[in-house]
Amino acid sequence: MKMLIGGELRDSVSGRTFPVHNPATGDMVDEAPLGGEDDVLSAIEAAGEAFSDWAAKSPRNRGKILFFAAEEIRRRNTDLAALLTAEQGKPIREAVDEINGFANILEYYHGLSAVIRGESENLRGYGHVTVQRRPLGICGAIIPWNMPAIIMGWKIGAALTAGNTMVLKPARTAPLTCMKLAEILSEAGLPPGVLNVVTGPGETVGREIARNPEIRKVTFTGEAGTGKQVALDAAPAMKRLTLELGGSDPMIVADDADIGAAVEGAVRGRFYNCGQVCTAVKRLYVFDSVADEFVRRLKARVEEIVVGNGMDRGVGMGPLNNREGLERVAGIVDTARERDEGEIIAGGRVPVGEEHRHGHFFLPTLVAGVPYDSVFFSEEIFGPVLPVATVPGLDEALELANNSRYGLGASVWTRDAGVIARATEELEAGIVWVNQHLKIPPEVPFGGTKASGIGRENGSRALDAYTEEKSVLVRL
Ligand code: NAD
Repeated sequence: MKMLIGGELRDSVSGRTFPVHNPATGDMVDEAPLGGEDDVLSAIEAAGEAFSDWAAKSPRNRGKILFFAAEEIRRRNTDLAALLTAEQGKPIREAVDEINGFANILEYYHGLSAVIRGESENLRGYGHVTVQRRPLGICGAIIPWNMPAIIMGWKIGAALTAGNTMVLKPARTAPLTCMKLAEILSEAGLPPGVLNVVTGPGETVGREIARNPEIRKVTFTGEAGTGKQVALDAAPAMKRLTLELGGSDPMIVADDADIGAAVEGAVRGRFYNCGQVCTAVKRLYVFDSVADEFVRRLKARVEEIVVGNGMDRGVGMGPLNNREGLERVAGIVDTARERDEGEIIAGGRVPVGEEHRHGHFFLPTLVAGVPYDSVFFSEEIFGPVLPVATVPGLDEALELANNSRYGLGASVWTRDAGVIARATEELEAGIVWVNQHLKIPPEVPFGGTKASGIGRENGSRALDAYTEEKSVLVRL
């Protein structure tokens, strides 16, 4: 596959490529150009040339192009989802949802394009002030491999609707779906240079996007450590930043919770996308009085999950996306096992079937009776491992939930209005769910507090994050 730069499908300047492998089989899915700094510079040039015409278009006409692309993407969902599963590993039904989610985001911002407006006020003696919202210019987007389509949507939807142009870098182990989506946007009428995709390593392509002073804003999704590096690289050019970083979401199950619903929520919240979701349930605190029943029912559900190639019928969980991720998850489980931190009551190892031999598989893992200071709670586990601790009540649950450097999402499962009021008030997180976990529709502002990041994506105010105010004060 080739990169979209300046409306053309191009190889890298060096002519080199890298393979993208299917994490379930080890087979090569396709090759992508191994971009470097030169390719980023070409993309910046194309984005710079495209900017003034794109910014001068009416927002509604910009939004219409996103809408046409969304229609086409829905039509081609089957092929796009198969490509996403092949490179990322997720079950095909999750891939279908993700491609639809991408289209939903484009449609949502198309809708908002009709209502972009500034402000105007007569300040009497001072004159008349108008506050214009102006696009920033060229924006850079750096995205991870776990939900490449959705995260690309979060970045381009608001940025392009607001009149910016963009240079986007997908992750090395899942770049293909992003490349194909960019191609479809181009075919749908996006002018050359408005969206450019450069594939390649973070240390070269990503760093150039973070550093280059022509890029006025960087929006990054990935690990907290990488996010800090991006912020440092972006600082000298005084860039605007949105950082969507790691998370270690707590889920609290109170004694009056609907246990069946909470079990289903925990299964989906932790094992969706093989646990590789920033807002996955990574720490579960259940009240003592219902812990036995909850853990027993959860164990039965976890053991039902069929692990395999995401393209196969009946598979509920695919492989991890890459070997390093698998090793990291297995390493945390081994450390906890050595330290006797909780009882592994389901999974806890790599599956041994012939069909699993070439993939990065790990069994859905449930650990009960986990001590509060366990490595399971201090590390971000980016894989299918659910550690459960019991708590005497809400005070302890909230204290433990907030005892993390992260603050991305959190959920509480209860029917008690008092518990809901306290939890939604006190949980330190960018998003708090009640009796659900994980869903983030385009209308909902999304981002983290503490080490989980800076800024919000999604929702109408994301347009503000891709524009700058210019105040004009006129006295006649
Ligand atoms: P990562 O930080 O390793 O990589 C993310 C992207 O940054 C990739 O495209 C990578 O190539 C690039 N990159 C690497 N080094 C770079 C550098 N020095 N400068 C610029 N770019 C660089 O993250 P990952 O392993 O791909 O993704 C998993 C992480 O992402 C987890 O921590 C997860 O919680 C987080 N995440 C957060 C959100 C959110 O919205 N908060 C969403 C999804 C994933």
